[in-house]
Amino acid sequence: MHRKPQQFGSDNYAGICPEALAAMLEANSRSAAAYGEDPWTGRATDAFRTLFETDCEVFFVFNGTAANSLALAALCQSYHGIICAANAHVETDECGAPEFFSNGAKILTAPTLNGKLTPAAIEALATSRGDIHFPKPEVVSITQATETGRVYSRDEVSAISMLCRRLGLKLHMDGARFANACATLDCAPADLSWRVGVDVLCFGGAKNGLGLGEAVIFFDHALARDFGYRCKQAGQLASKMRFLSAPWLGLLESGAWLRNARHGNLCARGLSEKIQGLPDVSLMFPVEANAVFLKAPAAVLDVLRTKGWRFYTFIGGAARFMFAWDADPAVVDALASDIVEASRAQDW
Ligand SMILES: *Cc1c(COP(=O)(O)O)cnc(C)c1O
Repeated sequence: MHRKPQQFGSDNYAGICPEALAAMLEANSRSAAAYGEDPWTGRATDAFRTLFETDCEVFFVFNGTAANSLALAALCQSYHGIICAANAHVETDECGAPEFFSNGAKILTAPTLNGKLTPAAIEALATSRGDIHFPKPEVVSITQATETGRVYSRDEVSAISMLCRRLGLKLHMDGARFANACATLDCAPADLSWRVGVDVLCFGGAKNGLGLGEAVIFFDHALARDFGYRCKQAGQLASKMRFLSAPWLGLLESGAWLRNARHGNLCARGLSEKIQGLPDVSLMFPVEANAVFLKAPAAVLDVLRTKGWRFYTFIGGAARFMFAWDADPAVVDALASDIVEASRAQDW
C-alpha cells in the first residue's frame, strides 16, 4: 500500500482555506460580544444579503444535518410529508434528524433520473393520496448539486418550484455544494435560489472551504419566524458565534467561495477527461460539479485500493471521487494514471 499525498474520498477531507482561516484569526484578535451580537456575525449576514441581492434571513449552524433538519422542521408540522430523492442526504445520511426535529414529519422518497428529482415524480407522489390516513405532502427538498454530482439547471429548479406553487408545497434546497452548482452554471446565487422559487437554502460551508459551518438562508421572512429558538433548542447556537460566522466573511468577501468551487469542478472534469475511452471504466453520472463516479469491474477497483486510493462505493457500487478547494492537480493526474493502469492491467 502506497501512502498518497492526498485523498479524494470526500470533499470534506480538505482543510480550512486560507481566506476563511485569515478571517477566523482576525476575529480572534480581541474580545467580542457572544451569541451573534459581534460585528463579524453582522457583517457575514450582510455579506450573504449582498451575495443574494435580497434581504434574506441568515442563521449560522455547525453542520449540514442541523441546517437541513432544522430548516425542514421549520417548514413542516409533525403530520406533514417531505418529498425528496431516494438517495437524498436528508433521507440516507442524517440518521432520521429531519423526522426527529420535525417531531414526526415523514420523508417520502421519489424515484430520480441519476439522482435528480423531476416534476413528474414529485407530482405523482404529492397527489398519490389525498386522504387523512397519509402524511400531507408539504415540502419538496432538492439537493444542489445532487448526491450524484449532477446540477439542476435554473429551468429545472423553476419547473419544480412552479409545481410546488401549484400544489401548495414549499421548496427547500440542500445546498451542501450550492457553490459548485453556481460555478458550473456560471450563475448568480440569486438566480439559482429565490429567483427560481427556492424558499429556504442550506448553503454548505464545510465542503466549500470552512472548518465547519453551514448557513440557513430564508428568503421568506415569515418562514424564519422563531428559527433562532429552534437553533438554540437543538444545540446549534454558538456562544462564540464569531468563530462560526467570520470564516464565512472570508469566503464571501474575497470571492473564495466561487474560486474554491470552480477549482473542485475543474479537477473533477480533468479526471473525467483523462480516463475517457477505457474499455471497462465509465462514468456512472455525467460530471457536472466536483464529483466523479467511476463504474468499473470489482477487480479494477481492487487494484485502485491496493495502489492506496480511498473512495466510497455507496452509490450504485461506483467509486466516488470528490474534489475540494485544495485538490492538487498533480495528485489528480496521478489518480488518473493509476485508473488507466488498473484498467489496462485487466486486459493482460
Ligand atoms: C455533506 C453533505 C451534507 C452535510 O452533512 P453533515 O455531515 O451533516 O455536515 C448535507 N447534504 C449533502 C448532500 C452533503 O453531501
